[in-house]
Amino acid sequence: MSETFTSAMDGPDTANPRGRARLTFDLDVDICVVGAGLAGLTVALEAARMGASVAVLEGRHVGWNASGHQLGTVMPGFSLPIGELIERVGFEDTRELWSLSKEGAEYVRANATEELMPGIGASEGALEVSNVDVGEQLISRLQMLSEDFETEVEGWQVDRVRDQLRTDRYFHGVYYPKAFQIDGRRYVHGLAALARRAGARIFEDTPVVSIDPSGIRKRIVTPSARLRASHIVLAGNIHLGAPLRRLSETLLPVWRYAGVTAPLGTDLSEVITFKGSVADTDGIDHFRIVEGDRLMWASPETTWAARPQRFAPAIARRIRTIFPRLGQVEIAEVWGGAIGQTVHGMPQIGQLRRGLWVASGFGRQGLNTSAMAGLAIARGILWSDERWRLFSPFELVWAGGATGRVAGFIVGMWGRGSSAAAGVLARHRERVRAQERVREARLAEVNRQAGTRPPQRRPQPGRPRPVRPKPPPRANAADGPYPGPPPQAGEGP
Ligand SMILES: Cc1cc2nc3c(=O)[nH]c(=O)nc-3n(C[C@H](O)[C@H](O)[C@H](O)COP(=O)(O)OP(=O)(O)OC[C@H]3O[C@@H](n4cnc5c(N)ncnc54)[C@H](O)[C@@H]3O)c2cc1C
Repeated sequence: MSETFTSAMDGPDTANPRGRARLTFDLDVDICVVGAGLAGLTVALEAARMGASVAVLEGRHVGWNASGHQLGTVMPGFSLPIGELIERVGFEDTRELWSLSKEGAEYVRANATEELMPGIGASEGALEVSNVDVGEQLISRLQMLSEDFETEVEGWQVDRVRDQLRTDRYFHGVYYPKAFQIDGRRYVHGLAALARRAGARIFEDTPVVSIDPSGIRKRIVTPSARLRASHIVLAGNIHLGAPLRRLSETLLPVWRYAGVTAPLGTDLSEVITFKGSVADTDGIDHFRIVEGDRLMWASPETTWAARPQRFAPAIARRIRTIFPRLGQVEIAEVWGGAIGQTVHGMPQIGQLRRGLWVASGFGRQGLNTSAMAGLAIARGILWSDERWRLFSPFELVWAGGATGRVAGFIVGMWGRGSSAAAGVLARHRERVRAQERVREARLAEVNRQAGTRPPQRRPQPGRPRPVRPKPPPRANAADGPYPGPPPQAGEGP
């Protein structure tokens, strides 16, 4: 495929004072990608590998937003729970979507090798922990993931979770041995380097201010140059703005903040021995050990942009809440990024009109899903692979603008609040059960020593009385010889 320069400034990219290449000349390419985050860079890398001429236009710099500020946990799946996905698109399509999400994770693994990205430092395993005691639900989920979705998972009992994470906050866990973590910041820059090596051109400090997607050759306007391309890929996440404002308005922006503690020495290894990353099922906390004795922790969220440094005390408080034994920790560095949440919880992947593509809305789980999007779109454009159509049921839904942000904030607060309340209740039940066990053991011991039988326990107020099976109805000569089975416990009035 061709790449032609239509400006007098044909030649090397013009570097700005910070060494970034800004686009200052007109350009004609096959594919123009808007946004150099994980999504845009993966499309660019794959399309360039397939032989297309590609230009990536980035308004700030590579990894400026969420992509350069994530925690690097790579897992299969989506932000939307699998059960809801099945309800939405049915079992077979969910299986296909899930397998694409696994392919996305494996794609990241293949790129994130020491050879391609020196210093990337991958470690294995991720643990999803429950804030409430839901052992029963866990079993069916584990069965579904391993049998129907061919995903390696292990169910961890409460004791095993608490053996590795010394807190009473968490109950059961789902361990994904094939999930892994990488240095997230290094990955996005490594991706840019791979894309450049494959022939893609990346221009930073080059915001796209408008597009004209009609016609075979589409037009893209930046403050200092114009482009023409057969395909435009919008991968600008919540900051896309002017080129297609309606698209930005389908995303609810959520700023998530993360920090890393100062070295915690051996205190840390006394409370956490798990080496992979940990996330709770309510999506509130996400953490892992880095550099041996520091804790990297993501938690607070807002629907308005704020200075990340403001959230250092909140992160320290959160760590103390979950691991009181660590006490007041020092937060050495804080950062944040805006993620785009869709109303339906699934990413936006597909073709809006001929030659105009979208890859955004990856939410909190963007590493595997943006990789999957990049592959699907590059193959859609260059190989006419139609698998991106699996995402068609997740149409663009307006996220409510400013009202949506307020609603999102309230829903987020409510979600966190109700999850905290459910956690308190679960821990209270657990304490009561433990106290009962101790009481019963003492009673049994006293009775053993006294040689007496335990007294009949009186039902406690507020507790349902045990239901005794009703005696079978007396056989009546007129009823015949078989009175039928007695009713089971609970069947009676
Ligand atoms: C604290 C935190 C921790 C996270 N941890 C994880 C994790 O461990 N695992 C995981 O899977 N996910 C994680 N995520 C989520 C993940 O980071 C995101 O889902 C993902 O980075 C989104 O990538 P993106 O390319 O869509 O968007 P972005 O990173 O926002 O990139 C879009 C780019 O487009 C540019 N742009 C926008 N508009 C224009 C325009 N008009 N012209 C030119 N350029 C434009 C922007 O400047 C930006 O650089 C985390 C997110 C945060 C904030």
